[in-house]
Parts: sequence; structure tokens; C-alpha cells
Amino acid sequence: MLKRVNRVALIGTGFVGSSYAFALLNQGITEELVLIDLNKEKAEGDAMDLNHGLPFAPSRTKIWYGSNTDCGNADLVVITAGANQKPGETRLDLVEKNTRIFKGIVEEIMASGFDGIFLVATNPVDILTYAVWKFSGLPKERVIGSGTILDTARFRFLLGEYFDVDTRNVHAYIIGEHGDTELPVWSRADIAGLSISEWTKNKDGFNQEDLNQLFLNVRDAAYHIIERKGATFYGIAMGLVRLTKAILQNENSVLTVSAYLEGEYGQKDIYIGVPAVVNRNGIRKIVELDLNDDEREKFTNSVNVLKNTMEPVFKNI
Ligand code: NAD
Repeated sequence: MLKRVNRVALIGTGFVGSSYAFALLNQGITEELVLIDLNKEKAEGDAMDLNHGLPFAPSRTKIWYGSNTDCGNADLVVITAGANQKPGETRLDLVEKNTRIFKGIVEEIMASGFDGIFLVATNPVDILTYAVWKFSGLPKERVIGSGTILDTARFRFLLGEYFDVDTRNVHAYIIGEHGDTELPVWSRADIAGLSISEWTKNKDGFNQEDLNQLFLNVRDAAYHIIERKGATFYGIAMGLVRLTKAILQNENSVLTVSAYLEGEYGQKDIYIGVPAVVNRNGIRKIVELDLNDDEREKFTNSVNVLKNTMEPVFKNI
């Protein structure tokens, strides 16, 4: 009898998509990977190239290039297709362009009989995740955005560097829009169980100004990288692989994703970055952090900025 295998369909094999495919193959997380792109030759070339690396991979992955109709049997569809951020352009500038592209993609995927989980990374990711949820008609739990997974990783990395502690022992979240209004949850950040203020108490060399600057470097990291190399892709690709593993291996891991709020954090009808428990069914539960007044105000502002941007777009589509 044939064993049921995990199939991931990747829509968009540009910088982010092909880096994701490469990282996925190297971590041996799925049995099947289908690569789909408007530019079929790019998808085909990537499939050939990745297949040639299989003898060096930790496990066997069947990789081929295909079309949206191959998504019917997929467990997970990862979307990294669309226009990317140009120098000086904000993520929100991309909204209308990519929402229209997404309508076409999602309608074709749903017509193929897809009934799995969507994972969205294209920017502006919170709004496009909302768009996928609307266009697909799938339950909110099964439509997930990469949200602030990368921003949280950048935050943990920089805090680890600053305090000279392994980043894996730093627990701290960036929440809100994946973009200019995101915020750090300082009140809940800890290193090995000690809050940041406990960690810095009676120690020289640490100060609040450094920490404020550290957050600005997190928030503006994409701009800094784009200025230097035109695009960001390795970090988000690894974040997407982390999410893929949490889903396919039913991990119940807490990751900061763009999730649909229905009253959590006092907000409704919005996809935005918050910590959530992720497993084989998608988002099992949103983790509601007890924010202080300043954090709550900033989070509300982030929600409002997203809602104001989305309103005209969804009226016109
Ligand atoms: P890219 O231009 O290199 O790749 C985009 C790919 O999408 C191209 O290969 C293009 O042919 C394809 N495409 C366009 N329309 C398509 C369609 N209808 N169907 C199938 N494929 C289609 O861009 P990139 O650098 O890979 O970035 C992709 C997206 O990821 C951008 O929106 C970017 O802003 C976003 N991004 C998100 C994060 C995050 O943290 N969420 C981080 C980095 C980049």
C-alpha cells in the first residue's frame, strides 16, 4: 500500500522562494516539493538544480516544477510570488499590485481542489494573508502569514549579540505589522528566565539607548539589507522552513505569525503578527501576551495602520 506523503507546493521561485526550496531540501522536511512560477523556465531550472543536490541531502525529496493545478493534493501551499520591495519603497506600497496577483493565484489553487494550509510570505504579508483567507474561503486557522517571524528572529539575534548569550536562550517577540509600525514586547522579553531589567541590574555596559537603537535596527533591517544587496531572502527562507516543520511535524511550536484576530488583544477582523501555537492543523491558539499600556497603544496603532491601508484595496477588488 502506498504511504501518504507530505507535499509542499511553492508558488514563486524568486529569491525568497528558491532560497526556501534550498533550505527545505537541506533539512529534509517534506517528501514532495512542487515548484511553480509564472516564469516556468525559472521553476524548471530550479527543480533541475535542486534535484542534482539530492545525493547530498539528508533524505529523499521528490522535486519537480508544475502549475497551480498541482496544488490539489498539497498539504501546504507556500506563497512567495509577487513583486518585491524596491529601494525606498515601503511594504504597504506593494499592496494593491500583489492583492490582484493573489486573487488569480488563490482562485486557481482552490479550483484544483486544494484543502490544506496556506503559508504566505509575500509583502505586505499581513494584508496578503487576509486576502488569501478571503479569496480561499478556508478556515482562519489554515491561512497563516509569516508575520513577524523574521523580525522576532532578528530581535533575538541582536539581543543575543548585545548580551553575548546564545540567541536560542533569548525569548523576546516582535509583534504587529511586519513593517514600520511593528513593536518589541520588552515587558515580556527574557534571557534564561530573567527579564531584561533583571539581566542588566547592577551591570555596567548596558543601557536603554542601546536597546532602543537595537530595536530600530530590527525594524529597519530590510531597508538596510535591500540598500546593500537589493533583496532579503535567506532569513525569511529559513523562517518559512521553520514554520513548515512546525506544521508538517505537528510540533505545537510557538512562533510569531500573522494570525486572524477575533477579539484577542482587543482587536477583530485583522491578520497581524502575534505569537501563536502552530501545528498540523495550522494555528491552534493565539498566545495573548499581557502587554503594558505603551505596548498596547503601539499595537492598536499598528492594527489601525493596516486597516486603513486595506480598506480601499478590498473595496476595489
Ligand atoms: P522575486 O521577484 O525574486 O520573486 C518573485 C517571483 O514571483 C518571481 O519569480 C515571479 O516570476 C513570481 N511571480 C510573479 N507573479 C506570479 C504569479 N502570478 N504566479 C507565480 N509566480 C509569480 O521576489 P523575492 O525577493 O523572492 O520576494 C518575494 C516576496 O517576498 C516579495 O513580496 C517580498 O517583499 C517578500 N518578502 C517577504 C519577507 C517576509 O518577512 N515576509 C521577507 C523578504 C521578502
